[in-house]
Amino acid sequence: MTGLVHFLFDVEPSRSAFASVWALEFLSVALVKTVQIRYNNRTMKCNLCPRNCNADRTEKSGVCQTDGIVLSRVARHDWEEPCISGSRGSGTVFFAGCNLHCRFCQNYAISASPSGVPVSAERLADVLLYVQDTGVANINLVTAAHVSDKVALALEIAKPHLSIPVVYNTSSYEKVEALQRLDGLVDVYLPDLKFCDGDIAARMCGAPDYFEAATNAIAEMRRQQPQDVFDDDGYITRGVIVRHLVLPSFAEDSKRVLDWIAAFDKDMYVSLMSQYFPTRQDKIVALNRRLFRHEYENVKQYFFNVGLHNGYSQDVSSATQDYLPDFDIELVRKTLSQVPRRFSNLSRQ
Ligand code: SF4
Repeated sequence: MTGLVHFLFDVEPSRSAFASVWALEFLSVALVKTVQIRYNNRTMKCNLCPRNCNADRTEKSGVCQTDGIVLSRVARHDWEEPCISGSRGSGTVFFAGCNLHCRFCQNYAISASPSGVPVSAERLADVLLYVQDTGVANINLVTAAHVSDKVALALEIAKPHLSIPVVYNTSSYEKVEALQRLDGLVDVYLPDLKFCDGDIAARMCGAPDYFEAATNAIAEMRRQQPQDVFDDDGYITRGVIVRHLVLPSFAEDSKRVLDWIAAFDKDMYVSLMSQYFPTRQDKIVALNRRLFRHEYENVKQYFFNVGLHNGYSQDVSSATQDYLPDFDIELVRKTLSQVPRRFSNLSRQ
């Protein structure tokens, strides 16, 4: 989801100081079969996320526009927060489709009209091991809320073979019960908290219940990962980092978001992002410009005012499409052709 090149960050002098800028053998055949049976028996009517489409996704897609896992990018990513990307890079796996559809989405190439390569949960498990073998610091699952049940199956298969952390990167428009399926499978949660005001959330993504859903989701993530743990190289290995993108003209709502975080957990790591840039003309006029530096600095100061002290910030000059991931289906196909079949050989996909 995000993208800023490391040199654009003022790297924090210590993990506890915000003053910086980002400146921040496999499974037995029996187990595979068990997982497949559970997968096939899942309900046909989808109410996995707060959209509650009640759609039979095999017949007609819901808001997320997908009926299963579709991979749109599998690649090392160097532009996440320093404790995620570091020098080894983060092993991102991008999922096509989205259940939120923010009108300002910067990954709209894959969220608006899902394009990519469909895979089974078992094949995704293959991919996760392949990603680990590339030497990255972690596996970074990007925007999987609409397929979180299938991702949980993949993690159940792959997790015993993973020695690097699993990062779950989400809009937070998720149900608590869906997240509970990930308990013990995800090491680091990277949730957005995008809006506080229901009217703003309705205008931005047609989800007036966003704040309630997202804050309940973040509380569940914190329950699962109550402590933030970093290794000797500065990588986060367990915990929660809340991301918030400051939008042009919506600084007051950003402050309400920070109010909630501070009241919930003053020690929470917050990634305060300034990277918004317009990707197309929007009828919400404010979205047709970049963030002013003074808007961002104002919100950043408020972060300290409410007692928050852990996190990362960005330089406003980083708001450019130069750091957007490239979504190329042929590249995904080529990558998948190199992924050994370890779990998916029973059901080739
Ligand atoms: S996961 Fe997709 S189909 Fe299911 S409720 Fe959410 S948006 Fe609707």
